[in-house]
Amino acid sequence: MYNFSKHNIFSRIKESENSFLVNLLNGSADILDPAEADYFVKLMQGAEVPETFSNMLIEKGYIVDVDEEKRLYRNKYLEFIDNRDEEEVQLFFVPNYSCNFACNYCYQDKYNYPRELLTKDIIDSFFYYVSIEFAGRKSYITIFGGEPLQNSPYQREMLSYFLQKARKAELEICLVTNGFTLLEYIDILKLADIREIQVTLDGVGETHDSRRFLKGGGATFEKIVDGIDACLSRNFPVNLRMVADMDNIDSLPELAKFAIDKGWTVNPGFKTQLGRNYELHHCQSVSEKLFSRISLYEHIYELTKKHPHILEFYKPAYSVSKFLAENSSLPDPLFDACPACKTEWAFDYTGTIYSCTATVGKADESLGSFYPEVVKNTELIEEWERRDVTEISACKSCNLQLACGGGCGSVAKNISGNICSTDCRPVTELLEIGFASFFNTETK
Ligand code: SF4
Ligand code: SF4
Repeated sequence: MYNFSKHNIFSRIKESENSFLVNLLNGSADILDPAEADYFVKLMQGAEVPETFSNMLIEKGYIVDVDEEKRLYRNKYLEFIDNRDEEEVQLFFVPNYSCNFACNYCYQDKYNYPRELLTKDIIDSFFYYVSIEFAGRKSYITIFGGEPLQNSPYQREMLSYFLQKARKAELEICLVTNGFTLLEYIDILKLADIREIQVTLDGVGETHDSRRFLKGGGATFEKIVDGIDACLSRNFPVNLRMVADMDNIDSLPELAKFAIDKGWTVNPGFKTQLGRNYELHHCQSVSEKLFSRISLYEHIYELTKKHPHILEFYKPAYSVSKFLAENSSLPDPLFDACPACKTEWAFDYTGTIYSCTATVGKADESLGSFYPEVVKNTELIEEWERRDVTEISACKSCNLQLACGGGCGSVAKNISGNICSTDCRPVTELLEIGFASFFNTETK
């Protein structure tokens, strides 16, 4: 029996007469002119349309044999699971939750952290746990905080020890830091195989300094910039992140220009990401300044139209649009967007195990411990492991599922209290913007 595919995503391209039709299961994507879009709507309403058009829809998998689509879905799902079993595992390690910054939007500032310190014993236990649990699995470590690069003799000793253990275990290191003490840590970082250092700048000069300042006050921008230069000159790849809300988004063109003038954007070891400042753990006192997922990208779209140089610095993905533009094909179907307890785990200096960076440090999210003894809450771990679009009931019938992947398990749990619930992504709206950004959408 022929029917419309359950995975068609159809909408009008932003500021265009044309529409797009995308199907992640069949890997098809097309721009429809107004006449074709009209045929498509008519066909959905049961009206007659030219045979050449309906044949095209059958050929590209927008109209399918229902049983065949079910078979294809099952096969692609199994392929997804197989591929994920081969994927690298990212192991986050938090050596401390304390920080030398007092960023005006920090979500960790309300946590009450245990006062004890990281010890060599705990580091040894962590590497032993990893060697057993993830034996035979490709993995790497991301050191996270708080601010891990605290410039005290004790912290320097612990991190040196940690990095040497990582090298011995042949595990590459990524580092998430505010960047303030990178210069002081450069020599210690040479002890490790550094894959990437993520540093945050929220704008240039005063814009950054008004958001990301030292505890007790003090500018940080210039020193972070020197740290980035030092990393790049030593071939440590840098991932520059900007955390955006309505207060600083309009400084994106200036930050892009700054990075271009610095020569960072032509360095193969330099990349960027833009993070949305959002309410994950406690209410932001200024929540009206926060963007929703879609309003942030609408704003970026307007900014890039006025300041196209931004795209040299940061190119938004707009769901699968960037991938489609760069590869002339769609990515594989995304049955699960949340890597927690599958290809991502988090551990901290108290010996506790968590699912990922969104839950790490929250006592009620603990999944067990690797120190002083190994204890695992298998029931909870299995709940995280099970989460994907085939498990979340609302996702099963959602046409966006293979682009959205069910979103973030932690956000979903914060909303509904249940890990296996939805965190909907505005896939259609993002594609509307993405097609407008990356494709020629002039009417044929
Ligand atoms: S819960 Fe959210 S933050 Fe954590 S791994 Fe899943 S998607 Fe990422
Ligand atoms: S989370 Fe929402 S948008 Fe995403 S697949 Fe599930 S129902 Fe669809």
